[in-house]
Amino acid sequence: MNYTDDSITNLKGIGPAKARLFNKLGLYTIGDLLEYFPRGYKDKSEITKIRDIMPDESCTVRVRAAGKAQEGRTRSRLIITKLTVFDDTGRLNAVWFNNRFIKNAFREGDEVLMHGKVKRIGKDLVMEVPEYERLSDSESINLMRITPYYSLTEGLSQKDIRKAVYAALKHAEKQADLFPEELRRKYGLAEINFCISNIHFPESMDKLKLARKRLIFEEFFMLQSGLIHIKKLNSAGQKGIRFKKTSEIKEFIEHLPFKLTSAQERVFEEVSKDMEGSGIMNRLVQGDVGSGKTVIAALALFKCVRSGYQGTMIVPTEILAEQHMETLTNLLKNTGIEIALLKGGMTGKEKQKVLEGIKEGKIDVVVGTHAIIQDNVSFNKLGLVITDEQHRFGVRQRALLSAKGENPDMLVMTATPIPRTLSLIVYGDLDVSIIDEMPPGRKKVETYFIDSAKKERLMNFVKKGLDEGRQAYFVCPLVEESDKLELKSAIEYSEELKNKYFRNYNVGLLHGRMKADEKNEVMYRFREKEIHILVSTTVIEVGVNIPNAAYMVIEDADRYGMAQLHQLRGRVGRGGHQSYCILISDTGNEIAQERLKYMTKTENGFEVAEKDMEFRGSGEVLGQRQHGLPGFKLADVFRDAKLLKLSKEAVEYIYENNKLSNEDYKKMKEILDQRFQKMLDEITLN
Ligand code: ADP
Ligand code: MG
Repeated sequence: MNYTDDSITNLKGIGPAKARLFNKLGLYTIGDLLEYFPRGYKDKSEITKIRDIMPDESCTVRVRAAGKAQEGRTRSRLIITKLTVFDDTGRLNAVWFNNRFIKNAFREGDEVLMHGKVKRIGKDLVMEVPEYERLSDSESINLMRITPYYSLTEGLSQKDIRKAVYAALKHAEKQADLFPEELRRKYGLAEINFCISNIHFPESMDKLKLARKRLIFEEFFMLQSGLIHIKKLNSAGQKGIRFKKTSEIKEFIEHLPFKLTSAQERVFEEVSKDMEGSGIMNRLVQGDVGSGKTVIAALALFKCVRSGYQGTMIVPTEILAEQHMETLTNLLKNTGIEIALLKGGMTGKEKQKVLEGIKEGKIDVVVGTHAIIQDNVSFNKLGLVITDEQHRFGVRQRALLSAKGENPDMLVMTATPIPRTLSLIVYGDLDVSIIDEMPPGRKKVETYFIDSAKKERLMNFVKKGLDEGRQAYFVCPLVEESDKLELKSAIEYSEELKNKYFRNYNVGLLHGRMKADEKNEVMYRFREKEIHILVSTTVIEVGVNIPNAAYMVIEDADRYGMAQLHQLRGRVGRGGHQSYCILISDTGNEIAQERLKYMTKTENGFEVAEKDMEFRGSGEVLGQRQHGLPGFKLADVFRDAKLLKLSKEAVEYIYENNKLSNEDYKKMKEILDQRFQKMLDEITLN
């Protein structure tokens, strides 16, 4: 919103030391403060008479101090400070613990507002550690209103932030509204200055609602406009590489170990066309797990190298990098294309050799993790950048990589199914190709939902599979309190599996606290069938491909999002074997049960994603937040799906149908252009 760029030190009470604390929260300017929206509110607008206090409920009282506060000590040597206060209906004791400041904070007769929970102890009413505010303070910003609560940092209190925001509101000039009146009326949006004021210090719950609506709408609108803007920048002016049309590619396709599905053919044609064109390719290939995206990457790399350029493939983890290295080496064998893996565990010498090879152009294709973006990697002639399963890969990283070549083409691959309704805001700056067909002969992954009473039977079922030579994944019960506990429970869980059910099998464990090479070691042994059962915490790396694994057992399945369950399920069913996914949960929650039942009925990732959104839209947020969505301050794509839709309508109204008057459009464009530069740096398309 870019209200004003004046430093917060212009505000009374914020000196350099205080400012540094605000900086810790990312707050440097008055504008930053105004955009630092509360994380919640408490309605303290009502004053309760002491006589009417309900024990164990929070309330605000307007009282006078009966004397000075008294200090004492509890049996456990805690300092306890007690202040007796009264109104015309009764008295109560306010108490604080280990707060040396309180003792001298009040004089007899001081008039104060206090807010807190009241307990009845014997005959007395006690308000523990109340929030308080002196009535002599010129304006009440902490009590006697709907009070905002902000995220804090050490050294800053709610009062500090409220005071600063309050001052900022006074300091800031009135802002021009991004939305012209016509638009505001059409979509029921409140005026911007009203909204900023009411999001911080709501005059009423209704006004707060109006403010939220407008600001959420604006967040959605800004992101969509920003993406349209980026897309324009990408396609305008910049000249990309024109890769050659080559007949060799046909031959290459004919020699693949399988026949491409028609979806793969279509998608590669779209990719080819982009590559041969004069623009810069910015294409997303979306396809469910197992739909065969890797071969598309291989084809694009082949085309790239045959045109005399280098290509690179970037993946989120080293395990995945090694796997891709293996697959690509296989697919590209007999082509003379030189492929190298760049990874963390390499010795200095090995690494040096690869880096030199890349620089001199002896290496045609580099596979690796984020390390490739680092600046000591320089390419001879980079023409194509492919990212796989890189949900956290932002516009910025893409720009950094692009800078390593002369406008290389970009291909982004993902299996994360994003509901159609959301794909614009998530991938709005990319052209999208969808592989909507599975390679033939794929067996359905049978999915079951059971409760833990059936565990014994389940284990026998898995054992049978192991004896037939298959392997299994077990995803541990979730522990959220801490890494340490999670680790403990993972170890216990794998011990339990081993000692109770799988004495004669090898059980391996993969958890988040392991080093990369330890993880690799375990994965390697699993791939070599030395380990029969792989126990893993939360997430088995996306994209891991062990075709012989045919069982996926997920404990506490209700605690995962449907999309995540679908990803996990995608780890099995990759070979020719019948595979199974077993969701274990004892949840009594009906919606959670319904979600799990739905998982047993469909294997289609897009259907799962749509359904997931429906469930979340119903207000139930279970399991983990679906990853891959941009961070908003207020908006939540699931909860605010209706506003998202409305904002899309506005985007169409303005950009596609050109319905705004010239003058309105010009004004709006001016404000937008100012913001875009800032936004370009900030958005990360997850
Ligand atoms: P994902 O889209 O999940 O990355 P992969 O590219 O890893 O999928 O492919 C999954 C498996 O399917 C691989 O073993 C691959 O060899 C195989 N595959 C890909 N395309 C075809 C096809 N057209 N016919 C048969 N098998 C295929
Ligand atoms: Mg893949």
